[in-house]
Amino acid sequence: MIEKDNTTRCWVCGGKEFTLKKESDIEDSLSSDHFAITNFDYGKTGELKKCKSCGFIQCTDLTEVINFYQDLEDKEYENTRKERKLQEQRLVKFLSRYKSAGKLLDIGAGSGIMVEAALEKGFEAEGIEPSKWLQQNAQKMNLPVYQGVFPHAKTPGPYDVITLVDVIEHITYPGNLLSDINKSLAEDGIFVLVTPDVNSLAAKLFGFKWWHYRFAHIGYFNRKNLVYLLEKSGYSIVKMTRPSWYFTLKYLGIRFLSFLPGFLRFPLPRFLDKIIIPVNLRDSILVLCKKKKQR
Ligand SMILES: [Zn+2]
Repeated sequence: MIEKDNTTRCWVCGGKEFTLKKESDIEDSLSSDHFAITNFDYGKTGELKKCKSCGFIQCTDLTEVINFYQDLEDKEYENTRKERKLQEQRLVKFLSRYKSAGKLLDIGAGSGIMVEAALEKGFEAEGIEPSKWLQQNAQKMNLPVYQGVFPHAKTPGPYDVITLVDVIEHITYPGNLLSDINKSLAEDGIFVLVTPDVNSLAAKLFGFKWWHYRFAHIGYFNRKNLVYLLEKSGYSIVKMTRPSWYFTLKYLGIRFLSFLPGFLRFPLPRFLDKIIIPVNLRDSILVLCKKKKQR
């Protein structure tokens, strides 16, 4: 599974020339735990190379990661369901200004939090998720999430809304996925994508300590090459913004303390777990697109 491919072309623009961005941290082998959504091993990645023409950064020694997701179990993720739900509700509210009803598909649905938020808002929502464990959690809550990857026999479309939140950075050849999504989108449907922005201020300030540098992320976009790939895959951009995330104060406290030397760390009061606040670090990109009109 882990093999170095020095002949790879840029997954976004097809460019052949790269600069080495970061050496690989892979020592022997990786397990599904390295791919947990709540894995805090920030700054650890496979070898990263940056395309000289478009600036896209891609991993060269971790390309087929889907097997890791199939066996992924992430109990911590379920513990953060409450704040993730707020997150998804906010996203559904945002997209419903452009499309207020109809069939919605969430790709990389996890345990169905987005699906749940969309169903509550009146969408005919369903999802698809590679992790068997997360999909089973969705099923236990009677949320229509299918196990597998997109495209999938059970989700032929057409859909009025397709969402791809924090997924594309995990994908090899992301243009293929974007084209497949385009085919399953209704003529006047909308597509919503969220991914980290490698050119954001936070990414620059934190360098390789930026929380999005992790084994699970194998493709790093900036706004320009993301727009380029979306347009090439048949979309026109309607709106671009930066989403907020919701965290408990305890979670933020733990993350903050992890940047301090050990002797400065202090125990956090338990009530911080009860307080949830929105945080906009402005280091993710949210793009809402439509299908490019055929001429
Ligand atoms: Zn490129």
